[in-house]
Amino acid sequence: PRRVVSGLQPTGELHVGNYFGALRRCVQLQEQGDDVMLFIADLHALTVRQDGQLLQERVLDMAALALAAGLDPERSVLFVQSAVPRHAELCWLLACLATNARLAHLPQYKEKSATMKEVPIGLMLYPVLQAADILVYRGTHVPVGVDQLQHLQVASQLVRTFRHRYGPAFPTPRPLLPDDGSDRIKSLRDPSKKMSKSEPDPKSRILLTDSDETISLKIRKAVTDFTPEVTYEPERRPGVSNLVTLHCLAADKLPEEAVEEAAGLSTAQYKRVVAGALCDALAPLRARAAALRARPATLRHVLRHGAARARLRADEVYDHVASRAGLTHA
Ligand code: ATP
Ligand code: MG
Repeated sequence: PRRVVSGLQPTGELHVGNYFGALRRCVQLQEQGDDVMLFIADLHALTVRQDGQLLQERVLDMAALALAAGLDPERSVLFVQSAVPRHAELCWLLACLATNARLAHLPQYKEKSATMKEVPIGLMLYPVLQAADILVYRGTHVPVGVDQLQHLQVASQLVRTFRHRYGPAFPTPRPLLPDDGSDRIKSLRDPSKKMSKSEPDPKSRILLTDSDETISLKIRKAVTDFTPEVTYEPERRPGVSNLVTLHCLAADKLPEEAVEEAAGLSTAQYKRVVAGALCDALAPLRARAAALRARPATLRHVLRHGAARARLRADEVYDHVASRAGLTHA
């Protein structure tokens, strides 16, 4: 089977972009028989300043949401990244093959580092750690959003470099790009940007824990344009089209169907339809997650179980790779 690897950073609360673009896709892949490994990327989160206590709480929040979304901790592997030290160990081996020039030119790095006075090395190493996350399990497929494509290219390049230097060790991981727009949910405040956990304005995203009232309010305030009717033209009308995409993902429709349904409605009226569809889709998820979140000991147990399974897989790959690199004394 295909081995799918995906991660969620505990840098904030999960939003609908993370859900439709990552979490729900992992569950769908699990249901179609893929071998899914989903990790909570606490090492990645450290590339920006975090409060340790809060980080641990968010890890449990995410575990609860992953289970609530239907991830089965027996068929799939759900774990916390730092509980599998091989990620960091392989990252070091790969970092020795990566170049400063390549990493410094990645748009995400340039964007994030631009606002910082002191740029941590870890921020630059982020895509290398991401490559390690995938390769340490010999991951074959990665359900990324378009925001991660360049990072996946770094991983492919590292696979090649590793092969030239030490011989074949990893398959080249392939992106799994959906065709329903779920990989590119836009910010509700600025539809030229993607929806993000770390964006300061909380109105830019719909959290999976938002109440029906909050969802409706955020959709009502969503930035659109001055054309009243509803059309689906992602390039020309990103704001309205983003609402159509959300509607379609929440209510399992095609854009043509959603637009047809919206015929005669103004954007303001259509926003009520979109909000209703999102509330219907998210309410059961929210309720299940809250029930699970009330049992932190169970969540920790699930995560420990996942980490134990992940460690077995990672050890096997790492032992092979480390001996190729001449690190055979451990
Ligand atoms: P941050 O702002 O801290 O980077 P984020 O919202 O980008 O947070 P990540 O934890 O970096 O979330 O990404 C988790 C997963 O969600 C990744 O697979 C990523 O591709 C996906 N993802 C993130 N944002 C979106 C989005 N707006 N639409 C679809 N998928 C997304
Ligand atoms: Mg991100």
